[in-house]
Amino acid sequence: MGLDITWAVDWVRRSAQVVSDHRIELITLDREIGDGDHGENMDRGFQAVLPKLDDLHAGSTPGDVLKLVATTLISTVGGAAGPLYGTAYLKAAVAAGDSVSLDAEAIAGILTAARDGIVLRGKAEPGDKTMVDAWTPAVDAATAAAADGADALGALQAAASAAWEGAAATEPLVARKGRASYLGERSAGHRDPGAESSALLLQAAADAAAA
Ligand code: ADP
Ligand code: MG
Ligand code: MG
Repeated sequence: MGLDITWAVDWVRRSAQVVSDHRIELITLDREIGDGDHGENMDRGFQAVLPKLDDLHAGSTPGDVLKLVATTLISTVGGAAGPLYGTAYLKAAVAAGDSVSLDAEAIAGILTAARDGIVLRGKAEPGDKTMVDAWTPAVDAATAAAADGADALGALQAAASAAWEGAAATEPLVARKGRASYLGERSAGHRDPGAESSALLLQAAADAAAA
């Protein structure tokens, strides 16, 4: 079964909840290798999206929800993550188009578009210790799951679990992009905060699909 507007709205609500629940953890991670604001930035952004969900109407699509998230994150999150996530959700919205229901292939398509948007904006490569290190394995896993005949839920579960592995795998890496790169070798031994928040958001997407 495909994922519709109900899923998209639930994804946003769960994202806001999970980012709020992990606010301190994201701040702590960013304090180790950045400026300590990632949890606050993300929490502010997703809290700002919640009241805007009331503007949706009966004919709204998952793409409309993704666009709402994009514009809100761009105007409220700031820092590196605001424009990066903003671009990700905007590209995902374009990929979703005016579909009312997203199957596994469409889910793999929106995740691919999101990741490509992050790369276009931030120019990070896999292994640079950024959110790309969560998104790239997630995209690969979702694409493979869709090709293997998984449904949309299965594609998202594969994406989320690969994103968690990708986030954990950033720990030994030396950062080559973003604020953490200023630390050089000293950035090794800490998990990238943006990779962690990406895994949280993808897990929220899978949980919304399972609900
Ligand atoms: P800032 O670094 O401006 O304070 P945040 O703390 O909100 O912004 O976000 C930091 C996260 O942004 C990093 O953990 C990393 O995942 C991500 N990031 C930074 N620069 C890039 C980039 N060029 N490409 C992809 N992701 C990046
Ligand atoms: Mg920061
Ligand atoms: Mg900052």
